[in-house]
Amino acid sequence: MTTDTTAYDLFIDGEFVASDEDERIDVEYPYDGTTWATVPSGTTADVDRAVDAARRAFADETWAELLPSERAAVLEDVADAIDEHADELAELETRQNGKLIREMSSQMGGLGEWFRYYAGQCRTLEGRTIPAESKDGQLFTHVKKEPYGVVGAVTPWNSPLLLTVFKLAPALAAGCTFVHKPSSYTPVSALRFAEILHEEGGLPAGVYNVVTGAGSVVGDALVNHDDIDKVAFTGSTEVGRRISADAGESLIPASLELGGKSPNIIFPSADLDNATNGVIKGIFAATGQTCLAGSRVFVHEEIADEFVDRFVERATDIDLGDPMDPETEMGPVAFRDQWETDVSYIETGVEEGATLEFGGDQPDDLPGECFLQPTILTDVENDMTVAQEEIFGPVASVLTFSDEAEVLELANDSQFGLAAGIWTEEMRQAHRVADALEAGTIWVNEYRTLSFNAPFGGYKDSGLGRENGLEGLEAYLQEKTVWFDLSGTVDDPFKLG
Ligand code: NAD
Repeated sequence: MTTDTTAYDLFIDGEFVASDEDERIDVEYPYDGTTWATVPSGTTADVDRAVDAARRAFADETWAELLPSERAAVLEDVADAIDEHADELAELETRQNGKLIREMSSQMGGLGEWFRYYAGQCRTLEGRTIPAESKDGQLFTHVKKEPYGVVGAVTPWNSPLLLTVFKLAPALAAGCTFVHKPSSYTPVSALRFAEILHEEGGLPAGVYNVVTGAGSVVGDALVNHDDIDKVAFTGSTEVGRRISADAGESLIPASLELGGKSPNIIFPSADLDNATNGVIKGIFAATGQTCLAGSRVFVHEEIADEFVDRFVERATDIDLGDPMDPETEMGPVAFRDQWETDVSYIETGVEEGATLEFGGDQPDDLPGECFLQPTILTDVENDMTVAQEEIFGPVASVLTFSDEAEVLELANDSQFGLAAGIWTEEMRQAHRVADALEAGTIWVNEYRTLSFNAPFGGYKDSGLGRENGLEGLEAYLQEKTVWFDLSGTVDDPFKLG
């Protein structure tokens, strides 16, 4: 279905510019399948132009060379501009991927805080001095931090701006400049975001550039470009592995935020009301389309029947509908291919022996072709496909366990290690289990909370490096060690020291 569409251009060097080819990508509202925008299907020549603009901006004295307090002041203006446009950005996000306006409004309302936090880090960024160990202490050695340079960033469709800002805010605070390839499902918000950041936030031209287009063309050209200095990627483990190899070939660092299959573990002492809400939050919020989805629900066998009854009852009550309606609790899957992937995983689960406890169908009272009921599979074993592979949809696999040792072994028996939830009222157990789980983020009696100041990233195949917090800034800085000789003599030229 097609209605009036808005045609966007690429954003390069501080302005909208046409691609050098005419081919375009349609952007659909997954609720009803209407096409509401188009963006250029960019080319390698477009990537060259964007990297060139970012390189000039990096070399120019308008960004990397600013005093930290001056750069911080721009980032604070950027934060104010984002606040000003939070409602508009939330609507763009929802129109692209069907995520709830109630979630996108709060996400966009909080986005400016990333820039304020990293403005603070920018103001306080310091190097250090190293005590001299040779030349009788007559050396003055200091370490300073410098930005890598031009960052090539590639992002997915599920939280388009939030995941961009995890990279953009610290990269800009460090003094880097940025070329961004958003997902082809969600390219519009990044283009408008770049416009707002430059026109109202005061970013100098060339600091943040957006090239839309296919991953295999624009993404590939960007991560393999010989004039970028660092890659930042969020997306699937499969693509991340390839991008990491490309970056390795170019000998540049790559931060990778990848997939997950996170365990959400309920012990007998848990407050079951909270745990049930936490499990719903983990797997049905955002229609299950989050990297940190609690898609493997481990419940102790003593409370399994009671928990499953409550879980099914809560799932039955979830309001599916128009994501633009603030009352809606679950929107559509973001696009039809993902819907088909979800349904085929459900079928595989049943074929391998799982019981379809609830869901699995497209509700017949909703438009479009992307709605899927919240789905609960029980009798799941940890070696089944639905317990090992990331589905990225509203599909919970419920497994049972008999003791702590068993659940730790099962929970860690996964290629992924992004996040985990623990539900228990026993403090010592919570600490023991948190220590033993192989995951970058652990929640105790909560699930799916994040903040600009807390590092986030994966163990094992869930990624490399951390975003947010101090670690998020370090990822865009490299150290330079400067040695000053204070002795005034260079003695033995044939020995180190
Ligand atoms: P994807 O890997 O298919 O695509 C991610 C991005 O990579 C897109 O912009 C895509 O166009 C681009 N791309 C594809 N092939 C490329 C190539 N050869 N070279 C360069 N770029 C290429 O992922 P997706 O379907 O957009 O997103 C869902 C995945 O992202 C899930 O696996 C999810 O777990 C993961 N994710 C991880 C996090 C995290 O923080 N760990 C957050 C959100 C999503």
